[in-house]
Amino acid sequence: MVTVFREVTREREALRVKDELIAMAGHELRSPLTSISGYSQMMARQLGVVQRQIGQLDQLIGDFMEASSFDDARLSLDLVPIDLVDLVQAAVERFAGSCPSRPIRVEMGGLPEISGDPTRLGQVLDNLLSNANKYSPDEHTEVILRAEAEEGHVLLSVQDHGLGIEPEHLPLLFERFYRVRSQESQGIKGLGLGLSIVRDLVAAHGGTVWAESAGTNQGASFWVRLPLKCD
Ligand code: ADP
Repeated sequence: MVTVFREVTREREALRVKDELIAMAGHELRSPLTSISGYSQMMARQLGVVQRQIGQLDQLIGDFMEASSFDDARLSLDLVPIDLVDLVQAAVERFAGSCPSRPIRVEMGGLPEISGDPTRLGQVLDNLLSNANKYSPDEHTEVILRAEAEEGHVLLSVQDHGLGIEPEHLPLLFERFYRVRSQESQGIKGLGLGLSIVRDLVAAHGGTVWAESAGTNQGASFWVRLPLKCD
């Protein structure tokens, strides 16, 4: 009887030691894990900053090369029938990938097929969307991309609720190297080439582009009118 009792006590003791060991090991293993997790989150944030800087540099280099190639009159278009819904959706996906926290709304009516160069027109939308994001410091404000049909044309527009533009600058924005210098836009980097590239690409399609804004901090809209067929 005494022997059985001792055996039970020893087993209980062994179980208690095992539980203690597991609790201790769990605790010891978890503390480096917590610190690894903290550091990896910090690195991910810093990598995000590096990625954004790479994206900005890439855009600047692209603008630079693109603008100089236009000066050499090397702008050629690969014209194919374009489904505008696909074109808009692809641009929205690229935008959501590069600016994941910016809300974007798309409004499309019934759209006819147009003839154009999908890469170049994609570039037009990318540029306007990227500016809408860049010149809207509050990253919760919405960007709206609209596409609608007009008599013999389609009308694309990108609207934002950002810094806006004073009326005297509106006709000049599409000139090479033109940038609005204001207190609000201080620190926003750029070469002033993006919109001149947009203008050249739209013109190559036989279309027109213009900007509207009610003034500083009133947001801005950029419009692109394209003929259904460009010759
Ligand atoms: P960048 O952005 O590199 O300066 P752009 O040619 O794309 O060059 O734009 C020219 C100028 O037009 C910008 O510097 C800015 O002043 C103004 N601009 C462009 N898009 C917007 C916008 N969505 N809201 C306010 N200002 C804008």
